[in-house]
Amino acid sequence: MPVYTLPELTYDYAALEPHISARIMELHHSKHHAAYVAGANAALEQMEEARAANSFGAINKLEKDLAFHLGGHINHSIFWTNLAPNAAERPSGELSAAIDEFFGSFDAFAAHFSAASLGIQGSGWGILSWDPVGSRLIIQQLFDQQANTAQGTTPLLQLDMWEHAFYLDYQNVKADYVKAFWNIVNWDNVAERFAAARAHSSAILLLS
Ligand code: MN
Repeated sequence: MPVYTLPELTYDYAALEPHISARIMELHHSKHHAAYVAGANAALEQMEEARAANSFGAINKLEKDLAFHLGGHINHSIFWTNLAPNAAERPSGELSAAIDEFFGSFDAFAAHFSAASLGIQGSGWGILSWDPVGSRLIIQQLFDQQANTAQGTTPLLQLDMWEHAFYLDYQNVKADYVKAFWNIVNWDNVAERFAAARAHSSAILLLS
């Protein structure tokens, strides 16, 4: 039995049009995300074989494979739930207040998040995260599927900046893709993740 499985989307592939086309959504979910799921399962299987044979010559490759493919699986699983058709324009409640507190205003947050996403050199993700150590929201650039973020931070909102996420619709005009993204952010989902991350970080801090 595979450990990881491809999650179903809660909306149709065409639901995010005109901001993201059905063609991109179909390829992105059923091909790209599915490949990360298969890769993560394969890495776990090969690690099991390595333990059974007590043969760890390929362990560095397998650890890298697991980080990359499991990273891809988790990133996309979060991304799909971060998006919704007919989304609210802005966050509300405690999330909105926290964005104002840590970034100055929603507009300053959106400008920072957009710049961080557009500035990624190569493939990666723009991420709004909860940092449990500083008890604050931060914006991070994730490289590839797994690098350049701090351990223990919890992603709340992720934007896929790999070319497969936008190229069919926007070609090289990445800025238009990022602009369109703000029309389909599921702020209810981000707020839910924010509440869960803060509850979880209290639990972590009790351990120290
Ligand atoms: Mn992707």
